Amino acid sequence: MPRIPFPKRKVPRRVAIEQLAILEQTYPHAVTALEYASEFQLLIAVILSAQTTDARVNMTTPKLFAKYPTPEKLARARQSDVEAIIRSTGFFRMKAKNIIACARDLVERFGGKVPHERDELETLGGVGRKTASVVMAAAFQGEALAVDTHVFRVSHRLGLTLGTTPRQVEEDLTALLPPAKWGDATHWLIMHGRQVCKAPTPRCEICPVRPDCPTPAIIRRL
Ligand code: SF4
Repeated sequence: MPRIPFPKRKVPRRVAIEQLAILEQTYPHAVTALEYASEFQLLIAVILSAQTTDARVNMTTPKLFAKYPTPEKLARARQSDVEAIIRSTGFFRMKAKNIIACARDLVERFGGKVPHERDELETLGGVGRKTASVVMAAAFQGEALAVDTHVFRVSHRLGLTLGTTPRQVEEDLTALLPPAKWGDATHWLIMHGRQVCKAPTPRCEICPVRPDCPTPAIIRRL
């Protein structure tokens, strides 16, 4: 199938809210696919998940956390040792540097605890807006909506946004939902992107939001 263009117009607000309500009903228990046993482990797993799959990260982190179970241990790690463990996640040199820096920041400035506020999270090594949002959404029931590749694609196909940057998409989506639902909405959209609205070929024939989605008509014209 040729690349499917995104809709050029947003759906009306009433339709957008209805689409999100259907996704909420469809994925009521959606959570992050990353496996973790503490806020520290989640934070490190999210940093490692850049440019790779959660499944790949889940294959890597058991060995990493067995050797470095706490921020204190990871803060003292040799970078080459960490690189050897996380190599398969890609960009392993930069990621090793980032997670060690992050652990040092946790130890030196936050007593080894992961802060819950965005402003503080984003001061940690290797943590940008998206990483902070994922951590807040997954661990703190925080009022944060993270825009990854699935959220970006699905929200465009549904006509919820015309945003060209993750930040613009985030602003459009958060304007449609109360803050208490922002974290959960991240997971509905990711789950829908993984299971149904796949790239490059969406499974529109089984999609519960199909009646309100502008993309099937675009596909028919291809
Ligand atoms: S109808 Fe198709 S394009 Fe629209 S959300 Fe569903 S799977 Fe994606």
